[in-house]
Amino acid sequence: MRTIIFATTNQDKLVEIREIMGEAAGEIKTMSEIGFTGEIEENGATFRENASIKAAAVAEYIKREKPEYADAVVLADDSGLEIDFYDKKPGVMSHRWLGERTYPQAMADIIEEMKDVPEEKRTARFVCSIAAAVGEELFTVQETVEGSIGHEIIGENGFGYDPFFYIKEYGCTTAQMSPEQKNEISHRGKAMRAMKKELAERFGL
Ligand code: IMP
Repeated sequence: MRTIIFATTNQDKLVEIREIMGEAAGEIKTMSEIGFTGEIEENGATFRENASIKAAAVAEYIKREKPEYADAVVLADDSGLEIDFYDKKPGVMSHRWLGERTYPQAMADIIEEMKDVPEEKRTARFVCSIAAAVGEELFTVQETVEGSIGHEIIGENGFGYDPFFYIKEYGCTTAQMSPEQKNEISHRGKAMRAMKKELAERFGL
């Protein structure tokens, strides 16, 4: 079973990844756990590009400095929110869009700006790309979850923009879902399962 090295410093994501990869995974480590402390500049124009930049940077580090991990699968993800009313922004800038604001402040600003926007024009989606570097191969998967921008901030679970991301079929925001429920339908959950399938098909992992 190969070690998975996940190019993140975010422990929450690691917990999600461990849950989703389950039995299929060998040991799962973060890039800092194998000694990578460099900054990776996420300057890609798309989620796929950013995920690939991160996976390639860690794979390059392993090649140079940590040959003992040469067999490992390096995974990296990039995600964000696309709001159709803002021509799919903030997209890859989802975190940087906050500026000095907190998430509740940014969501309140958006809700105010969109207060007269009718339901059918409030569509939005979370997008998640995951890149894998395995040996010389680098490939990506990408998944989305469709929803709309709600009129209020509701829910205590999740993080980031979850409390105003409303999913009509469930009649609630992703911040009102349990972690298991969110994992089942979320961009990240779906992308991780797609990646798990790719790794099984391509490498028998
Ligand atoms: P990154 O993948 O860590 O670069 O995440 C980018 C940003 O997108 C996060 O900081 C959040 O603002 C937003 N985002 C991504 N996924 C989610 C989610 O599941 N819920 C809420 N916000 C998210």
